Amino acid sequence: MLIEPFQEFYGTFNIGGGGILLASADAILLARHPFVEGNIGRDLRESDLFRKYLPISSHGNAEIKTFTDGVVRLNSYRRVSEYPLVVSVAFSKDDVLAPWRADMSSRLVRTGGLVLLIGTLGTWLTLQVRARQQIENAYRDTAAAFRLLAENSTDMIVRVGPDMSRLYVSPASRELLGYEPEELVGLRTDSIVHPDDRTLWEKAFGEASRDRTGDIRATYRVLRKDGATIWVEVNRRRVASGDGYVVTTRDVTRRKQAEDQLAGANRRLRLIANEDGLTGLATRRHFDEMLEAEFRRAKRNGTELSLIMIDVDRFKAFNDCYGHPAGDRCLRDIALALKNLPGRPGDLVARYGGEELVMLLPNTPEASVLMLAERARSAVRSLGIAHRGSEATIVTISLGAASLRPNHPASRADDLVQAADRALYRAKESGRDRVCLADQPEPARQSA
Ligand code: GH3
Ligand code: MG
Ligand code: MG
Repeated sequence: MLIEPFQEFYGTFNIGGGGILLASADAILLARHPFVEGNIGRDLRESDLFRKYLPISSHGNAEIKTFTDGVVRLNSYRRVSEYPLVVSVAFSKDDVLAPWRADMSSRLVRTGGLVLLIGTLGTWLTLQVRARQQIENAYRDTAAAFRLLAENSTDMIVRVGPDMSRLYVSPASRELLGYEPEELVGLRTDSIVHPDDRTLWEKAFGEASRDRTGDIRATYRVLRKDGATIWVEVNRRRVASGDGYVVTTRDVTRRKQAEDQLAGANRRLRLIANEDGLTGLATRRHFDEMLEAEFRRAKRNGTELSLIMIDVDRFKAFNDCYGHPAGDRCLRDIALALKNLPGRPGDLVARYGGEELVMLLPNTPEASVLMLAERARSAVRSLGIAHRGSEATIVTISLGAASLRPNHPASRADDLVQAADRALYRAKESGRDRVCLADQPEPARQSA
């Protein structure tokens, strides 16, 4: 057979899974490697090679479904110019692409890994950027909210640097102080302090307070731009970073005025409670308080406490003779005569009740008390107020004096009052217009 040498010759080519085909120019399969017996002599006119490609070009490359087995192969064909032959070498597409595919798949794995890595990194970066944006937005919102608060607060809010100069001043400065915020920025916070309160400011916010971390609050006067004085309550807090302070300033002028008014009213009330309306002497209430206080002090210090009880003689008759208003005037005159008789700081002259008066004399020995009581009696006599209902024909008083050194634990202030009262009773009993000392067996008649 003529074909056999070709078969053998083709067999010497190592073309892996490929095949070699030799056909006559009129499309009869002459030889094929690998050799398939039945195929030799087949008519290839209907094959893609003869029908589609050879009519266009005498040689070339084409992807052709093999006529004999229907497998798609990559063909390189050529019409042999010297002979009426066609030769074609074909490789199965899968075989040709296998190394490329293997390479590709390993490249794909590597690229895939890289893409995954880049993707993960990108996602992470996106998340980071988003989180940062959220923080920045939140910060911007918070900053805007704080600015809104600062700019709409009626309190003046000031950011102060470590050197006490103002870095930011909220617009409340206009209403509070009459200054534009810009006029105050850069100046020290004590720039508007009233000269009389400068010491107060220095004590609260001066150099010594620089490192104090807690809140410092002080109330003092400042000068507005128009020269008016207002009271402000200032609160200073050191910022967490230690970089200066935040100072809030509030106008408390009205509150201060109300406090002053209240203090005045309280003073007046205290005065009303402590001062007898008719005589201007201390009230019984005040006397009781002072007696207790002085008694405790005498007990503590081991000093003497003295008391003079005074009662107007025949006063009922005075009222009867001259009328009650005249009785009141008489009482007022007596009070005036006695009020400043004892002159030491702790001394107190009070209206004990009705026409009874009392003198409280701390740290006064008996001899001095007796002298004082005598001076009181003379002072009333010296007034020379006519009293036809009395033996003396003028208004007189009787006095009972007592002195006590409260060294006994059981002794009480009441003991002193009772002793003086008993002495007064004795003065009345023994003829009035006289002084009796407590626990004296016989009161001596005093001369006018
Ligand atoms: P004596 O003390 O000498 O025994 O006689 P007396 O008449 O003063 O007696 P007593 O002290 O008991 O009387 C007190 C009188 O003083 C009763 C009241 O009419 C009068 N009296 C008390 N308080 C006032 C007062 O505020 N104004 C007037 N006008 N009279 C008063
Ligand atoms: Mg009386
Ligand atoms: Mg009397």
